[in-house]
Amino acid sequence: GDFRRDELYKTLKAKFGFNSFRHRQKNAIVSILLNNDAFVLMPTGAGKSLCYQLPAVLSKGVTVVVSPLRSLIEDQRSKMKELDIPCEALTSELSSADQEAIYQRLMSPEPDIKLLYVTPEKISASGRLSSAFSSLHRRGLLARFVIDEAHCVSQWGHDFRPDYTKLKSLRSTYASPKVPIIALTATATPKIVTDTRDHIGIETSKLFISSFVRDNLKYDLLPKASRSVVKVVEKMKQLYPGKSGIIYCLSRKECETVANMLTKAGMSAEVYHAGLNDKTRVNVQHRWLANRVDVICATIAFGMGIDKPDVRFVIHFSLPKSIEGYYQETGRAGRDGLPSYCLMLYSYQDSIRLRRMIEDTQSTSGIRMMHLQNIYQVVSYCENVSVCRRKMLVEHFGEVYDEQTCRTSKTPCDVCEKRKKNPSAFRVFDVSHEAKLIL
Ligand code: ADP
Ligand code: MG
Ligand code: ZN
Repeated sequence: GDFRRDELYKTLKAKFGFNSFRHRQKNAIVSILLNNDAFVLMPTGAGKSLCYQLPAVLSKGVTVVVSPLRSLIEDQRSKMKELDIPCEALTSELSSADQEAIYQRLMSPEPDIKLLYVTPEKISASGRLSSAFSSLHRRGLLARFVIDEAHCVSQWGHDFRPDYTKLKSLRSTYASPKVPIIALTATATPKIVTDTRDHIGIETSKLFISSFVRDNLKYDLLPKASRSVVKVVEKMKQLYPGKSGIIYCLSRKECETVANMLTKAGMSAEVYHAGLNDKTRVNVQHRWLANRVDVICATIAFGMGIDKPDVRFVIHFSLPKSIEGYYQETGRAGRDGLPSYCLMLYSYQDSIRLRRMIEDTQSTSGIRMMHLQNIYQVVSYCENVSVCRRKMLVEHFGEVYDEQTCRTSKTPCDVCEKRKKNPSAFRVFDVSHEAKLIL
């Protein structure tokens, strides 16, 4: 942990081109540079990558980053290349000659790689990689392990990946001297945080958490009836002509139906679901990113790791599978900070459909129970008429939120807006108010 604070700002500017830190970035970075384990819990777009990339540049040796998706890895690698930061990625895509070249560089007396991205499969499956790690470790050149999207470790999360559980061995294998482990995620309830920290052996890691409140997102909810759907299409046409949006649907068929409806109404829309081949999917995504198509009607498969700043609306045509999923999916709107609209169309019937889908899966009864519980939470979010939506969402992540903030914001949620218009109608629900009257 030999670094000077002025060096921190110099590198931030010279290497990354930023003038200042955001949110809790600085606290996390200083702690990481002091070789502490860290758990970084910040919403998508907050800037978690910098929390390990800046320390990687300032530290001796190689920082190893585990990331779940090739597309996410490719994205980071090309960003690092642009910034002239020595970075490589070991994925199964690479020819064995190319992989060998990377191993050679890792084994050399002074490795010229600062950041090495790997998929979790690679860590558990490749003996060649473990011997490269051991060699680096012996020579004091294994700076730290970074686990991106760390919630994938936990069965309680909505993104569980079996390969991630093998990351448990990192702590015990690289124990003396202890190689620090940094976990990053945007989606973790208190339960998942604990589970994840236990699992990767960083129970006592420092926590760096920033707020999950998204001030520029307007959360709305409407009952799903055939007529309201037509109204929604009209509304989107009026409010956001030619703007980017995502509509999440439960099934392929629903994607097609909604896309047809939009197209008939004169909007530009395409579908994205597991029924299309990889090439078509990549194509649709590219056209959307390049603003050549405006609205994507997608199943859950769309959007992970996509960073489009100007998404103006996210509509849930059918229920999301969990509150976390809902937060993540709506979180794709308004990354540029401009007001954006998040609408959920709710029918109890859809929750029954969702329940059937879960009951039909092969998972163990414990996991099925968890999924069912997730749906109940979504249903109670939807059935709720008295509590601020923002409050419900962020409190799910363990954050405290004052509804007054939503009520007075430029984009109050539907509940707060109704309250503002007609405060007396809600008096009966407002326990604190009642309590005051009694006292
Ligand atoms: P996350 O992983 O938390 O979703 P990223 O690390 O991908 O977020 O960062 C999101 C965006 O924010 C990136 O475009 C990144 O360049 C930018 N960013 C990160 N830190 C800063 C900063 N201190 N100042 C300005 N932009 C930043
Ligand atoms: Mg990230
Ligand atoms: Zn509200």
